[in-house]
Formats: sequence, structure tokens, C-alpha cells
Amino acid sequence: MTTTKERRPAIDGWFGTAEGEVRLLGTRCASCGTPYFPRNELACRNPRCAGPKDGSELEPYALSGRGRVWSYADSRYKPPPPYVSPEPFVPYTVAAVELEAERMVVLGQVAPGYTVDDLAVGMEVELTEGVLYEDDDTEYTVWMWRPVR
Ligand SMILES: [Zn+2]
Repeated sequence: MTTTKERRPAIDGWFGTAEGEVRLLGTRCASCGTPYFPRNELACRNPRCAGPKDGSELEPYALSGRGRVWSYADSRYKPPPPYVSPEPFVPYTVAAVELEAERMVVLGQVAPGYTVDDLAVGMEVELTEGVLYEDDDTEYTVWMWRPVR
């Protein structure tokens, strides 16, 4: 018997898929253009911004789906709660990536199958969606980085 598990984000509203591309979902100031990830809905924090600073200046914004590796590391130990890991724990690679347009550094797991040996500082990577953990019915997904082919 084949069963198909439901797939859903491990954390709601932080990423999504648009036109076949995985994108991080944040906000952006309509006055000065400052992007925020995770979402900022309180007020623009740019001290030079002339916007209203009451939250009305912040609009939904999908960040770059590509960037360059800024740093990376092997994760060989199971992270403590509240992080959720598969059982048994499988080591993975994490990368800090500077987004192409926003120049903001965003941390993420590297897609399964890639190790630190496949990465280098400055390498171009793109977002994909991968499974963080699963239970009997559901695969819980997060954004992951993978080298651009
Ligand atoms: Zn602003």
C-alpha cells in the first residue's frame, strides 16, 4: 500500500512557493525599501526612514530566492528543544547565505545530499524546500539552500 503524507511548512508564513520558486516571506518598508525577515509589522527600524513608522509603511515582500554562501558549518549534534529533529538524528550542513538583492544574511539547512565538501564561501546557492521532520501523517518542511547548477 502506498500512502502519501501531507506536506506542510514546519513554521507558517516564513516561506512559500511562487511560480515554482521557493521564496522567504518577509515585509518591506514602502517608504525607504528596507526589507525585513522574519516579518516586521510594527514599524520600520531604519533611523533614516521618513515613513510614518506606525506599521502602515510595511508591506508583504518575497525576498530573493538566491544568494551567496557567507559561511557554513557541519551540524553533528542534535540541537536542543525547541528545535525539532528527526529520530534518529541525521547530521546536516547549515549555511549562512547573503541574499542577492537584500544583502541580508539568512541561515538555513543545506539540502540533503550536500556536505561542507560541496560548499565554498561566495558560491551561488538557491532556495528549495525540504523535510525537517515527519510523523505518521505529515512531512513538515523548511527552506533549504542548495548549490546552483
Ligand atoms: Zn522605512
